[in-house]
Amino acid sequence: MAKILVLAGDGIGPEVMGETVKILQFVNGQEKLGLEFENALVGGCSYDAHGKPLTDETLRLAKAADAVMLGAVGGPKWEELDYSVRPERALLALRSELELFANLRPAKVYPALVDASSLKREIIEGIDIMVLRELTGDIYFGKPKGVEKLPDGQERGFNTMVYTTHEIERIAKLAFEIARGRQKKVTSIDKANVLETTELWRKVVTQLGKKYPDVELKHMYVDNCAMQLVRYPKQFDVIVTGNLFGDILSDEAAMLTGSIGMLPSASLAASKKGMYEPIHGSAPDIAGKGVANPIATILSAAMMLDLTFGKKAPAQKIEAAVEKVLGAGLRTADIAKPGEAKVSTQQAGEAILSELKKVY
Ligand code: NAD
Repeated sequence: MAKILVLAGDGIGPEVMGETVKILQFVNGQEKLGLEFENALVGGCSYDAHGKPLTDETLRLAKAADAVMLGAVGGPKWEELDYSVRPERALLALRSELELFANLRPAKVYPALVDASSLKREIIEGIDIMVLRELTGDIYFGKPKGVEKLPDGQERGFNTMVYTTHEIERIAKLAFEIARGRQKKVTSIDKANVLETTELWRKVVTQLGKKYPDVELKHMYVDNCAMQLVRYPKQFDVIVTGNLFGDILSDEAAMLTGSIGMLPSASLAASKKGMYEPIHGSAPDIAGKGVANPIATILSAAMMLDLTFGKKAPAQKIEAAVEKVLGAGLRTADIAKPGEAKVSTQQAGEAILSELKKVY
């Protein structure tokens, strides 16, 4: 028996999550996965009900679950709240309390949506990249940090870039393991020509790489990687990097594919427990209209089956169903071209479910 905590959240969260849970429940029944679903409030809706974006009880449920499926949090209604009780605080608390040290974002281009990208068809056709970003270390957490007054009246701001051997090994190991299930290529990104922290990064990744002789390891400087992602992205399979470089590169890689409504993500702990969520927010401008694209959340659920539960086959079936439905021309508003017919969130979810039913 495995437990999934469903935190639909605010805005379009409940709409896209509704379609996702239907698909998960169907696969659960067919594959006899023994998944149990629990629901709780998170974000603005939790603040409205309990005065906190994340209650102790929801955190307890998240810790007890094997995986968390999250919709989105936030919206204009809660923007004036004190920072400490803003909906987004719930996400930060969940990430740190669950010790989610690795963030994974796939950037895959679906043949039917090649023209939705801002890059030329021949550059992005066929790309399938997994960006693995370390999430709990680096310059965001390193000490000392602060802003101090200097005797001459100026101010001086400083942060510290820090990584330990253990932190680097942990994320690199995951990168090699994930690459084994893909094209067996890892590109590790650093700035080892200038930064000592990333010189250590390169040394540790290289040493660990010897344990994975079947995986090809390359190193690349971050500035070159930023350029290569738009010049020739097909060269990449798994990209692994630290928190700061990953913050920027994962957004860049994700945007190769076009629409924000299509992009899933996973954040993993060492135990393979994970939190799975679309990268988009609560989209207040379209919330409640039933027009949001549920695919990012549905693909996040597929990542969960693969990465936390080790069920690659059903995950691939969900991905294939999404591809089929897109191939047949089905489009929610965000991915429809002017003049093209648009379907609702529910119609998109139902079409994916019925494709899935054909292969079971
Ligand atoms: P957003 O991602 O919510 O929306 C940006 C644009 O993309 C909007 O026009 C929206 O309609 C569109 N969009 C997003 N998801 C879509 C989908 N599935 N289908 C179709 N269109 C989609 O970003 P924002 O407007 O900057 O933020 C809105 C709120 O969400 C804010 O309160 C913000 O703090 C919060 N937010 C939450 C998360 C999260 O929960 N992980 C992430 C980002 C932003």
